[in-house]
Amino acid sequence: MSDLNAADHSRDSAGLRYVYLVVSRRAGGVSVGINLNTNNACNWRCIYCQVPDLARGSAPPLDIALLEQELRGFLHELLHGDFMQRRVPEGARRINDIALSGNGEPTSAEEFAQVIELIARLREELQLDPAIKTVLITNGSLIYRASVQQGLRRMAQLNGEVWFKLDRASEAGMARVNDTRMSLSKVRENLASAIALCPTWLQTCWFALDGEPPGNQDENDYLEFLASLLSDGIRPQGVLLYTLARPSLQAEAPRLGALTAQQMEAFAARIGALGVAVKISS
Ligand code: SF4
Repeated sequence: MSDLNAADHSRDSAGLRYVYLVVSRRAGGVSVGINLNTNNACNWRCIYCQVPDLARGSAPPLDIALLEQELRGFLHELLHGDFMQRRVPEGARRINDIALSGNGEPTSAEEFAQVIELIARLREELQLDPAIKTVLITNGSLIYRASVQQGLRRMAQLNGEVWFKLDRASEAGMARVNDTRMSLSKVRENLASAIALCPTWLQTCWFALDGEPPGNQDENDYLEFLASLLSDGIRPQGVLLYTLARPSLQAEAPRLGALTAQQMEAFAARIGALGVAVKISS
């Protein structure tokens, strides 16, 4: 999952199979990432995706014993070893969150609910500060699955937060940007389920395609979708709005461009006018 942390990304920074570290100076801390999609497979193909050699598919079978060993060892090292001193700049030597992100859609892993249980167990065993979040970065397309819902319910008890991808709120827009044929009603259903189970933010990537920023139609579709959710009492925590910070690794890369701060702020203001919190991240 391409995420919002435009910081020092390095999946192999810790030299492990599933666990990696993202340092964010902006957020003043580190995120402990878990990549379940070691095969670089996702059920979507967003044209801005930064996963190398992205393939269609699901996460491969998980070696949960290895994940447990890596996560326990790495958290222990961050808490009690000298990794922070050696590798993390001053001012960011704090764990902000444990994030299920990675090189594909994390909820496509059959073992998703078990992974959340594992995080719960290790949080307790290592007495992690309850302020540390458990974040799921997802395209939301598999939230209808009972096992994913079970995981989200548990995440809510672990200071959980879902970042639910909504780049465009029309079927044509999703086909263009996410290369998926998912219906808008299904997106709405999945989103409503996520919100009911765990605090959920929308994450929206807003960028120029062939030199053109998203049009009025895109903006209006998005705002209408959001307004209709709100009028049905379906309320996300807010919108994480971002533009392209790093180059896409898909064939469309040369056609994509970042938006200016003013363009981002103009759209954020329209979202804010609905009474929804917006955080712009670069
Ligand atoms: S949802 Fe999109 S951005 Fe995320 S991994 Fe899949 S293709 Fe990439």
